[in-house]
Order: sequence, then structure tokens, then C-alpha cells
Amino acid sequence: MAYQALYRKWRPRTFDSVICQEAITDTLKNAIKRGKVSHAFLFAGPRGTGKTSCAKIFAKALNCTNLQDGEPCNECANCLAADQGSMPDIMEIDAASNNGVDEIREIRDKVKYAPTEGKYKVYIIDEVHMLSMGAFNALLKTLEEPPEHVVFILATTELQKVPATIISRTQRYNFKRISKADLEKRMKYILDQENIKYEDKALAVIAQVADGGMRDALSILDQLLSYEKESVNYDDALQITGFADRENIEKILLALLNQDAGQALALTQNELDQGASSKNILDELIDLATKSLMIIKTGEDKQETFLTADFITQIKDIPTDTYYRLIDLANKALNDLRYTNQQQIPLEVFLIVASSPVKEQNNESLAQPVVSAQPASTNTDLQAELAALKKQVVDLTQKMSELANKPSLSTNQVFHLDTAVPKVASKPAIKPLEKQTKKPVRKVKKTTAENRKQVYHVLENATRKDLETIKNVWPDLQSVLAVSEKAVLDVLEPVAASPDQVVMKCKYTLWFENASADNDLLGRLTDYIEKFAKHSYEIVLVPDGDWLAVRKEFVESHKDELLAKKKQQIEIQTEKSDEPKVDPEVINKAKDLFGDVVNVKD
Ligand SMILES: [Zn+2]
Repeated sequence: MAYQALYRKWRPRTFDSVICQEAITDTLKNAIKRGKVSHAFLFAGPRGTGKTSCAKIFAKALNCTNLQDGEPCNECANCLAADQGSMPDIMEIDAASNNGVDEIREIRDKVKYAPTEGKYKVYIIDEVHMLSMGAFNALLKTLEEPPEHVVFILATTELQKVPATIISRTQRYNFKRISKADLEKRMKYILDQENIKYEDKALAVIAQVADGGMRDALSILDQLLSYEKESVNYDDALQITGFADRENIEKILLALLNQDAGQALALTQNELDQGASSKNILDELIDLATKSLMIIKTGEDKQETFLTADFITQIKDIPTDTYYRLIDLANKALNDLRYTNQQQIPLEVFLIVASSPVKEQNNESLAQPVVSAQPASTNTDLQAELAALKKQVVDLTQKMSELANKPSLSTNQVFHLDTAVPKVASKPAIKPLEKQTKKPVRKVKKTTAENRKQVYHVLENATRKDLETIKNVWPDLQSVLAVSEKAVLDVLEPVAASPDQVVMKCKYTLWFENASADNDLLGRLTDYIEKFAKHSYEIVLVPDGDWLAVRKEFVESHKDELLAKKKQQIEIQTEKSDEPKVDPEVINKAKDLFGDVVNVKD
């Protein structure tokens, strides 16, 4: 029998089966029971918390001919049609996949017609914050005077991006993140029903990675089970989630508390080799140190199970100040990560500082952490390591200036000299930097003139064909990237491509910084694109906020060229444009280049 994705199979079909949102589901059920239904709802909350499920159930209940105490019966013709997505009175629009102006205008034109099968016409608009300004305005007009038979359900993960004028016309429900315990409970329930064996530790890892989202938790389970395995085990879960091995994290924490820098560095290197990121490791250490602290303070370990058998015995006599200091240092390191492309350095600096005796850092008489008789790294060791690092930094700086002086760099290798090197030169760290130099360094700079120049370069040579090629391999990337990396595909959008480069728009500025610094990830993405497209493209990232401005600048400064090229081509039917201020011919040409709706904003 073909494997049916758990995520689909266990999608809730009634309000009662939506977990952790009782306040919301009860209110919706009551509204239906009393027949007092508002015309517009706004479901806000993190991804995977049940917004779309609730919207579908609500739409179904509104049109069910055999309501069961506010719940849809799931048996009548309307319910069945709704489940199959063939109910003509329930319309779903995904604002993320288009800007929606046309769809919303169509709604505005058709909204006055009565429903054909059910009692209500229900419009579900997912990720409503992605609608363009034009679409929001069209939607607002409809929300101002909604006909009796129409219900809008808007869903969003980013409430702050929804215009206040829309919010004020809706009844708002805030969906909350699902707790780890509830995620685990639900996974256990489903796996028990499916007769699938599992290790509790594996579910704990999945719950941690899913970060409050049931959909993510279930799709990770689906991935694990799709390898034709009949059980969910810990090792597979660690592997598929790219999650730092918890047991190793415990060992790293113990090494730090033991002031054993060598051991901490070696264990950490091991984690990095397995694919964990610096941020991942620091997050985990903070999490674990906080939990340890709580156990020491409260003297109980209710639901936390540690993987190292005598972990609690080992930590219970350590003074709490040691934990505060460690958490503080780790937070600083996390912050430093945002400003450097050498992701390993802040982590290693942290390991060394955190494992050195307190008085070295701070003359105040904080109690010294001592756990066992293991030898701590001596000052001499640290000094030698520091000297070695300094030499590496000097070498690297020299290498980089040599490279910069070469007349031409291959397009695959973009080096920038003003990266983190001078900043870290004064800080101690241990590992040689050769790891970073093994691969060609793909670095993309932040929002600077340099970045802009790169984007311009791509735009000058952009072709529609290349953009199509990249867009066509996107679904293939979905299938090969690890779960933890798939989020990348949601955040990145290819917006222009030349025969050897592609510009990808980055949804969030913070993510732009992280992604720009993540050479491994960009490297893998580049490799996969090459594999599927059978052609190599260098990735140039641009923050979402910058993209429109850069593109506008480009279009305006190349107006004449674009027009000249345009004249050589066959006349393309000019569409009505929302932005009359820019020559429509130029917009058309720009459309040829970018392949999406050019929406030049002033
Ligand atoms: Zn029904």
C-alpha cells in the first residue's frame, strides 16, 4: 500500500481534534451553534499551529447540512466536497504564491452572487500579509461592505505586516505555539495508532526542531518513515534534523564546567563535522545550562531526562554563578556570530573563555567551578594557541590581499577583504582556518555598494530563460535538502538570473546576514542547482527590502537600452499597469528579464 503522509492523514477534520487551541476552537464552535458568524476573521500565529486547519474546518462547518454540536459532520455532500477541495463555495487563495491583485479583484466582482451549494461563500486567504498593496486595497473595499452570505478567513504568520485597516475589520484570533510536551504527546498518539515503534528520545529531538509547529513535526516524521523504515529512532532523527547530538552537548557542557578546553574543543569539532552549526551548538548549550540551573535551583527534574546517566550527579555541586557566566558568554558569542563570516571563531572563543577559571576573566570572587579531577588547560596552553591563531590570521590576511591584487577573479569566487578578519585578530581562538579555505569561498556582502554592484552585474546580463531554469529546479531542491535546510527555500526567491549568476531575494534581513555567512549552505545550494539545472550559477543574495530599490534604479538607469532591445523584439501586448509613473514599455522589458510582476514602487 502506498505510504500516506502522516501530515495529510492526521490533519484535523473537526475542531475537537485541533490540539492546543481550545480557546479558539470553542469560540468558533459556539459562533456556529448560535448562528452568529462575523464576516471576517483573522487567524494569526506561528507556522504549523493549526490556522489553515481551523479555517478549513470552519468553512466546512459553515456549509455543513448536518451540524453536530458546532462541528462539521464530515459525511454530508458539502463536507465531503470540502474535504476534496471541490466545494465551489469555499475558495482558497495562497497569497504567498501570487500578489493576488487579480484574485482579489475577482472576489470583489463575484462576491455579490449567492453561494451555489452551501449557505456561505467562504474565502480563505492564506499568508494574507503577502498581498500587494493593490490587493489589500481591493480587499478592504470588500471587507467594508460584505454581503450577508460571505465569510472571509485571513491567515497570517506575520501579523505586523497586515495593514491596520484590515485588522480592524476582522475578528482576530491568536494561535499559540504548541508546547514540546504537546507535540510529543500528539506524535506518540499518532505513532501508536499507526503501530509504528519509536524511541522517546527521537520524538524529543523532533519536537525541539519543530519549534511549536505540528506540521513540521509530522513532516519530519514523514521523512523518517519514507525511508521504508518501520520505526522512528534517535540516530535517524538526529541525522535528518541536523540537530546537534544532545548527548554530545551534555559532554561539551561537562567539559566546560570541568575547565577542560581541549576536550570541549574536540567534542565541538566533532559536532561541527557532523553538520551542526555554531549557532545550533550555542543554542543547545544555553538551553542545557538553563535547564541544569533550574534543576539545581528547584532540586527536581520532572520531565527532563538527560542522556548522560550521571549528568545530574555531576552538575549538582557547581555554583550557580558558573552557569550565569556561561549563559552570558554564550549569548555574547551568539551575538558575535551575526557580525562575522567565520562562524567557528566566536564559538571557539566562547569555549576557551568559558572553560578558563573565573578569576582570569573577572577579579570578583566568583566561586570556581570544579567538577572532577580532570586536568584543566593551563595558561601556557592557551597562550600557545593564541600565538598560533595570530599567525594564522596574519597569513590569511596576506593571502586575501594577494588575491585582491590579482586582476581578475573567477565569477565563482567572490572575495571581500573587509570581512571579519581585523575584528577577530585580537581574539583568541584555536582551530586553524583551513577549514574555510578548503572550498572556494562564496561570500556575499551585506547591504552595501558591493552587493549592489553584484546585483547590477546580474541584471545587465539577465535573461528570462536562466530565471526559468532556476525556478524549474526549485521543486527538485525541495526533495534533496535536509529538513533543517528546507526553510531556506521559503525564505529565498530567485528573482533574476544571468547565464552564470542568480540573484535571490531574501525575505528577512537577519536571515540575509546569516545566509550570506553560511558558506556551506550556499555551497550546497549552488551544487544542487548545478546538478539539476546542469549548469552552474553563482548565488548573489539581496535583502527583500533592497531588491525593489535596486531593480528600480536599474530599470531607470537602463531605460534607453531596455527600450532599444525591446524594439527589436516582437510587440508584446501591453497590460494595464498599476504604476503609470514608469514607462510601460520599460516595465514590459523588465518583465521579460525578471519574469515576475514588476511592481516598481515610488
Ligand atoms: Zn456535513
